[in-house]
Amino acid sequence: MSVKPLHIIFFGPPGSGKGTQSAKLVQDFQLTHISTGDALRKEIRAGTELGERVKHIMEAGKLVDDDTIMEIVKSAIEKAGPNGFILDGIPRTIGQAQALDKILVEIGLPITHVPFLNVTRDVLKERICGRLFHPGSGRVYHRLYKPPKVEMTDDVTGEPLVVRKDDTEEVFDQRMKEYDATFEPVLKYYSEKNLLHTITGDEMSIEEIYDSLKNHLQQ
Ligand code: AMP
Repeated sequence: MSVKPLHIIFFGPPGSGKGTQSAKLVQDFQLTHISTGDALRKEIRAGTELGERVKHIMEAGKLVDDDTIMEIVKSAIEKAGPNGFILDGIPRTIGQAQALDKILVEIGLPITHVPFLNVTRDVLKERICGRLFHPGSGRVYHRLYKPPKVEMTDDVTGEPLVVRKDDTEEVFDQRMKEYDATFEPVLKYYSEKNLLHTITGDEMSIEEIYDSLKNHLQQ
């Protein structure tokens, strides 16, 4: 698909389907996907000094300091391909948003689009808290949308299914509280710059959301 280079910040709460949509965009528009969470996890796996430094912070669910994050992002953007990039998981603070603006102006690649895939809380909760896993294979079911043939039983092996620790209401509420505290001010920052484009995905299929996203990116 030929369009002008895209410099995207993609926002969306956990369970919104942002990962699925990002993967489709990366493939169709040949974009570089830049996820600070992935980059940090890679450093930890490689046992680098940076990895050692951030490991405990990430395990505690706290934010890594802005300077470290901006260093990672700057170097990733400089290495991005000619068609542009999608930033995922960044910025998470106003400080990061401002630092990012500064870096992008310096390199001459200002943000072109800020889509926000919004899904209302009840729908997110239903999606996440209804998930069932088969630990042996990683197969995922859903109580409502993709129920196993026999209740709480894997279709292929007949083994029991489990609810993952993270997929309980209590953990969901905690994650959402953190999400709001972190991202709300940042969303406001881009809204005030008239860059934020909200897509409400509650009633839409994956394909419908993707069409809507593509429309936005081609404007
Ligand atoms: P994620 O995979 O985006 O949910 O990120 C996982 C963890 O990495 C977060 O809980 C933070 O500890 C850290 N992290 C990722 N991106 C950032 C960021 N932009 N600012 C601060 N910490 C981050």
